[in-house]
Amino acid sequence: MIKKSLMGLSAGEISALIEPEGFLLKHAVSVAQSIYKKGASDFELINKIPGKLKALLKANFTPGILQPAASELSADGTIKYLFRTPDGRAFESVFIPDKKRNTVCISTQSGCRMGCSFCLTAAYGFHGNLSAGEIVNQVLSIPEAGKVTHVVLMGMGEPMDNLDNVLKACEIMTAEWGLSLSPRNITVSTVGITHGIERFLADCECNLTLSLFSPFTDERKVMIPIETLYPVNSIIKLLRRYPLKKKRRISLAYMMIKDLNDTDRHLAELKAITSGSRIRVNLLPFHPASNGIKSLSSSERMMFFKHNLVISGISASIRKSRGADISAACGLLAAGLK
Ligand code: SF4
Repeated sequence: MIKKSLMGLSAGEISALIEPEGFLLKHAVSVAQSIYKKGASDFELINKIPGKLKALLKANFTPGILQPAASELSADGTIKYLFRTPDGRAFESVFIPDKKRNTVCISTQSGCRMGCSFCLTAAYGFHGNLSAGEIVNQVLSIPEAGKVTHVVLMGMGEPMDNLDNVLKACEIMTAEWGLSLSPRNITVSTVGITHGIERFLADCECNLTLSLFSPFTDERKVMIPIETLYPVNSIIKLLRRYPLKKKRRISLAYMMIKDLNDTDRHLAELKAITSGSRIRVNLLPFHPASNGIKSLSSSERMMFFKHNLVISGISASIRKSRGADISAACGLLAAGLK
């Protein structure tokens, strides 16, 4: 008999499984907390439940914790993990330690079908959606799980292309019976699928980042094909008018490439689309993939952009490059670990 995995189920769903045998919601909460908070891989390790429930769980279910299949350490301390689904599909996660925060960047799909030309994940192809359990498992199964303060869904895949599972994973990561992370410490990244963004903003409290690349639709569609279906102008309008709750963040990730999107014209448009809103701008160094793009913007040019945005009243920052030497940085995840 194949045992059902509890990973990815809510406390209510676990309760529905054990209730017919006479067990209560509080027992389901203890099971969920042990799996999600403590990474319990054995039902025997769960303290607050009756022995009969342990026996029931052992006979019919598995906690479903999937260990990484391989890992690689960067010179800057970043660690890349390779996972495989039971049917062999690969996906990667990246643990990024820093002074004040420890972030894990997780995948939502094995590969991706968005076809962005600057991204090696696109070249890896699309191998299917990850379940909510496979998404959450990337946070709690790595050796550094106990140190994680922030989660970004910016690894392989387009979250809005697997939104049901992404929303479920966010619920588990923020629930009291789950990982108990603050939604302000979880950020979901998208290249822009309008109806998905609308649903995400309404159904979830986590932060949102839009990968912009260019504020001009004709330039953007060369790099991000989905722009043809969902023009960035309408997405920006949606983000500008969305009534954001206190401390919730919407940001634009702006990967800078010399002469391609770092001109004064780009800066002026970036200011125009963000001024007077709470949208932040996060400037990213480009990591050359095998796509013929010439060179990155200089750090002086990135500082110039940041300074100009900030003095215009727009919140802006420059994200440090991490893990590029092990192909763990933005746009480089391609299941290269063996
Ligand atoms: S940038 Fe994101 S959406 Fe585009 S191909 Fe890469 S993983 Fe997919």
